[in-house]
Amino acid sequence: MHSKVVIIGSGPAGLTAALYAARANLEPLVVRGLQPGGLIATTSEVENYPGFVEGIGGFDLADNMEKQAARFGTQFKDTLVTKIDASVRPFVLHTDDGDQLTADTLIISTGASPRKLHVPGEEELANRGVSYCATCDGFFFRGKKVVVVGGGNSALDEGLFLTRYVDELIIVHRRDSLRADPVLQERAFGNEKVRFVWDSTVDAILGDDKVTGVRLRNLKTEETSDIEVDGVFPYIGHVPNTSLFTDLLTLDEGGYIVTDGRQRTNIPGIFAAGDVVDHVYRQAITAAGEGCRAAMEATWYLAEQEHAAKKAAQAEPVLAQ
Ligand code: NAP
Repeated sequence: MHSKVVIIGSGPAGLTAALYAARANLEPLVVRGLQPGGLIATTSEVENYPGFVEGIGGFDLADNMEKQAARFGTQFKDTLVTKIDASVRPFVLHTDDGDQLTADTLIISTGASPRKLHVPGEEELANRGVSYCATCDGFFFRGKKVVVVGGGNSALDEGLFLTRYVDELIIVHRRDSLRADPVLQERAFGNEKVRFVWDSTVDAILGDDKVTGVRLRNLKTEETSDIEVDGVFPYIGHVPNTSLFTDLLTLDEGGYIVTDGRQRTNIPGIFAAGDVVDHVYRQAITAAGEGCRAAMEATWYLAEQEHAAKKAAQAEPVLAQ
């Protein structure tokens, strides 16, 4: 299967790139990946995406973007890219269903994944009380007591979403002040279900076949204490999904893809957009903006290639004389 543009990843960056590439008649193919819709599809309310006066659910926002891209001819494939051969043109992509795709240009928008605490119990009790998605799993914690770890926007936003269900929410933060926006801080401080544990980390998640508690450590006093809880939601940032590109593209020390300010990577014809590039703004709207830029760059790149090929073809008979 050959496409002029293959987009890897289907969050706001990938879907916006698809919309622009489709409207440029490039018939893009989006490889959806493990998390269709990207991280935004797992967030509850999105209140800062322009155009939605009352806000919009993250899933609905991603779903709308996908439908809009599909309306102009974007194709979708549910698979994972396992290997990219960029030494040949067109590029060759191997997928986990044994298929091979070829592409004249690639737009990488594989996003980022929740950062893990890397403490005992976290892996063992995943989906048994440990969750990275309040929107998906909050319902299962009705009437329960849960811990959210982190002091950023995600911790507070998702924590506040959890208060719809839980009786008690404890936010554990490693410092004594929050990184989250003031509006979220105000809401959290004013919510009677929310309690903060400052200057502390979760050292272990306790429980045999489900979460029964956490071991906290105060970073100032080094004192540890166990508290009983039914769930743990780590919201301590993200790591870029770039393991596929380590031998292919230039990455920075944090593992993010390095682009030149026009979404171009070190390989001509490969562009990158969204959270896989951006560790500063990391917003749905900035990811969408980068997706737009990447698609426009891919369009211009293809036009240049076509123009160069035509010129070379015209020059050939002259050279032969
Ligand atoms: P973030 O802003 O990087 O915050 C991560 C939090 O986790 C920080 O408070 C950090 O502590 C803490 N942390 C990091 N590593 C830790 C560790 N190993 N153990 C314990 N705590 C740790 O990440 P985010 O909250 O996921 O937000 C990501 C981006 O999405 C941000 O740009 C944010 O603005 C955006 N976002 C926006 C909204 C919204 O506008 N409503 C909602 C969600 C996300 P320190 O503070 O000490 O560094």
